Amino acid sequence: MILILFGPPGAGKGTQAKFLEQKFNIVQLSTGDMLRAKAKQTDDLATTIKGIFAAGALVPDDIMIAMIEERIQHEDCKNGFILDGFPRTVPQAEALDEMFAKQGKKLDAVVELKVDENALVERIVGRCSCSNCGASYHYKFNPPKVEGICDLCAGAIICRSDDNEETVRARLKTYHEQTEPLLPYYSAKGVLKTVDGMAPMDDVTKEILNLF
Ligand code: AMP
Repeated sequence: MILILFGPPGAGKGTQAKFLEQKFNIVQLSTGDMLRAKAKQTDDLATTIKGIFAAGALVPDDIMIAMIEERIQHEDCKNGFILDGFPRTVPQAEALDEMFAKQGKKLDAVVELKVDENALVERIVGRCSCSNCGASYHYKFNPPKVEGICDLCAGAIICRSDDNEETVRARLKTYHEQTEPLLPYYSAKGVLKTVDGMAPMDDVTKEILNLF
């Protein structure tokens, strides 16, 4: 099974990808996570990526396309995968189509998490996760019992540097300008499915599972 989870920042793509990963025994490929790992290095690419993150802009298509093309050939993608954060531009989507054609793969669905834009800034600013086990928290909606410490493993809780209000607004603008045009692109191909991303987390998961 090959899925794309689609939606603006804060729609819940990462959270739902984690459920689907277990349910279908397929891997989550988060380009944001891949880039955050690269940004920790000390080379020129890391510096470039950090600048792009801070501006709420997008990493160039050629870098992203090469990253995904390489990643989907790994052994753990044999069963299928969930793309979380890719594609984000029409050229990326076109390149993905070409990759799939070349590698004999078929896209099963693009699942759009439809959300109310006004809720997004509040959802994103304050979200954080455990640096050890990855558990998600939100300082307003789902705080840990002890500030800064994970309830599950006592690991340190960290927030993403690009989850501040100014950068979130820039990321939303980038989404509207460069990523939203993918909705008509996939709708025309007949693979676009839309679910209500404002529903409680478990209901969103159920709605997604009902699609298959
Ligand atoms: P995310 O964790 O998906 O919100 O991604 C964090 C940041 O990584 C984004 O704001 C972009 O700067 C960059 N990024 C992630 N995926 C892509 C992509 N497919 N194309 C370009 N930039 C990306």
